Amino acid sequence: KENLIEVVNLKKYFPVGKNATLKAVDDVTFNIKKGETLGLVGESGCGKTTCGRTVLGIYKATDGHVYFDDKDVHSMNREEKLKFKKRAQIIFQDPYASLDPRMTIGDIIGEGMDVHLKLSQKERQEKINDLLGKVGLNSEHSARFPHELSGGQRQRIGIARALAVEPEFIVCDEPISALDVSIQAQIVNLLIKLQRELGLTYLFISHDLSMVKHISDRVGVMYLGSIVELASNKALYEKPLHPYTQALISAIPIPDPEVEDTRERIKLNGEVPSPINPPKGCKFRKRCIHAKEICSESAPELKEIGKDHFVACHLF
Ligand code: SF4
Repeated sequence: KENLIEVVNLKKYFPVGKNATLKAVDDVTFNIKKGETLGLVGESGCGKTTCGRTVLGIYKATDGHVYFDDKDVHSMNREEKLKFKKRAQIIFQDPYASLDPRMTIGDIIGEGMDVHLKLSQKERQEKINDLLGKVGLNSEHSARFPHELSGGQRQRIGIARALAVEPEFIVCDEPISALDVSIQAQIVNLLIKLQRELGLTYLFISHDLSMVKHISDRVGVMYLGSIVELASNKALYEKPLHPYTQALISAIPIPDPEVEDTRERIKLNGEVPSPINPPKGCKFRKRCIHAKEICSESAPELKEIGKDHFVACHLF
């Protein structure tokens, strides 16, 4: 499969106060193939949301490149940007905050269509009804307002809105973390179904490792702005190599309450340090049980140590 997205040495820094810099995304490189789902996991504050937004050009990159179908997202002209916006969409975390409460559901879904597709009034309404059906709602929802719907229904609207302009690529930015646990799997399964039907490519951002396992083909683990491990779903969950990934995976609860959990939890020392002044050398070293002298001296680079299995750690 060919790459739809290529992210090369991407950096997104934010100035903080007079002399400090928050390195939210610090030299990140990955690709996403057509039709694939790349999961991006990590604790809150690790830079995954900023990474997703910089990939979409919502944030301007500080350095590095994002290629979409071989075109650099950050040096597109107006016309190219408009085309890109049609092909690449986002689903937001909070379906309460991301839908305009004064607009009807039909207009929320139709808004992007008005910009990108030339449709008659009749075609527009038909398409809205069709999209509502695709996301498990019906045409009656079109005249309603967001506050009349449940959280899960609102996120379905968020998905329909993203799909309305017929995109190829969608950044799903923590699409389930604001929802009830009972609804989360429904939304993830809907995303999987839509991907199959429409041949979509996803960047699926979440701190929920079991959901990411369920939906992703490959997974990248972020820590303080960097990708520390990137591998196929199977390799990452069955044979995690980076000490941070190992700790995250050891903390995933076993879903079946009847099965006794005999796994050993790997405890992490301390909290995530601030991304404003991260430790020198390996950014994970203060929490790592394997830290050696070299870890405080130089930052490990992301290296391919097995087929399509990349790790940034001096142990390898
Ligand atoms: Fe731990 Fe060193 Fe590997 Fe960093 S480079 S994860 S500190 S062993």
